[in-house]
Amino acid sequence: MDKAIINSDFKLGVLGGGQLGKMMALAVGDWHLPLYILDQKKNFPAGMFTPFFTEGSFKDYDDVYNFGKDKDVITIEIEHVNTEALHQLEKEGVTIHPAPAQLDIIKDKGQQKQFYAKHNIPTSPFELYENKADILHAIENGILKYPFVQKSRKAGYDGKGVAVIKDASYRDLIMDTPSMVEDMVDIKKEIAVIVARNESGEIASYPVVDMEFNPDANLVEWLVCPAEVREEIAQTADALAREVIETFDLCGLLAVELFLDKDDNILVNEVAPRPHNSGHHTIDSCYTSQFEQHVRAVLNLPLGSTKMKTPSIMVNLLGADGYTGHAVYEGLPDCLAMGGVNLHLYGKVETRPFRKMGHATVVASDLATAKATARKVKETLKIISK
Ligand code: ADP
Repeated sequence: MDKAIINSDFKLGVLGGGQLGKMMALAVGDWHLPLYILDQKKNFPAGMFTPFFTEGSFKDYDDVYNFGKDKDVITIEIEHVNTEALHQLEKEGVTIHPAPAQLDIIKDKGQQKQFYAKHNIPTSPFELYENKADILHAIENGILKYPFVQKSRKAGYDGKGVAVIKDASYRDLIMDTPSMVEDMVDIKKEIAVIVARNESGEIASYPVVDMEFNPDANLVEWLVCPAEVREEIAQTADALAREVIETFDLCGLLAVELFLDKDDNILVNEVAPRPHNSGHHTIDSCYTSQFEQHVRAVLNLPLGSTKMKTPSIMVNLLGADGYTGHAVYEGLPDCLAMGGVNLHLYGKVETRPFRKMGHATVVASDLATAKATARKVKETLKIISK
């Protein structure tokens, strides 16, 4: 990197100005490092935290290319961006982390699985299909057996684009789209490891976390750090996450989502090459937040300590079911009065059922105390509309 990073000429660009972009901007505020952000509207979550917000679409070639051409380094807060423009910018000498070729693999669930298979990274068996007719044909010919999980290759985000097909009565749920179809895993726990790597090859991983899901919305609702798993499981998960980031040869942050099955096998479900919901607790409970770590990694700075300061429970604050419109945070003062509760609201103007509107990280000297308080937060805070 030929320019001094902490100087007013240095331009770090981020594609995406949602809550992840906002938290990235806040994290580097202490270094007085501005973030240049591209997203559709200035009133998106990150808009208030950088004066360098360009309105445009990160899915559009021209918008991404024009935004990127005067940046020193570009990174992302979402992987569904226009990678054609990023390939061109890379050719013209812009440093891009994660690299566009890595993004092409990761944003296609089919290519991502092929990557794991090619590199002997444990993952559930899978096949690729062009459309619903091909899937039905494979079922009729006994090639594909129930139960299975169908994932749209390109559109999947936050549980949309995933269909769990348990038996023939679920056939109507099969999506008519190019898909990756995989064996259903008998899941004991969903765990995740966030790992970072820089150009110098330094690697640092955070303690393993353990997720619980909201069955209605299929979103992570409650996250436990450290994961309540045996030490041996935590060590295997950590080693696997490190192997995955090295195999991708990726710089930046990689959230590695894993399944622990009933026989204690650990399988890679998918990865996200950016800060991730499963690392939000690091802001309040670790020495270095995932957002600062991501910036350190993409700028090839020394990685920060990933050590945990305190156990934590992270609760996603979702829009209440049945309410759409201007968001109102009922019970907010009562939550602020509870010890150890760190509220992070994303400033989204409109609430919708199950929309991620913020998160709360509850810290305590032990998990049992943190869980009891987290339960109170969930009962107390309701995100409704006027
Ligand atoms: P998304 O990218 O939308 O988050 P995921 O691949 O993480 O999609 O799938 C969403 C959820 O569906 C997972 O967290 C898990 O609960 C369930 N799921 C996904 N794949 C499988 C599988 N092969 N077997 C069982 N459950 C699965």
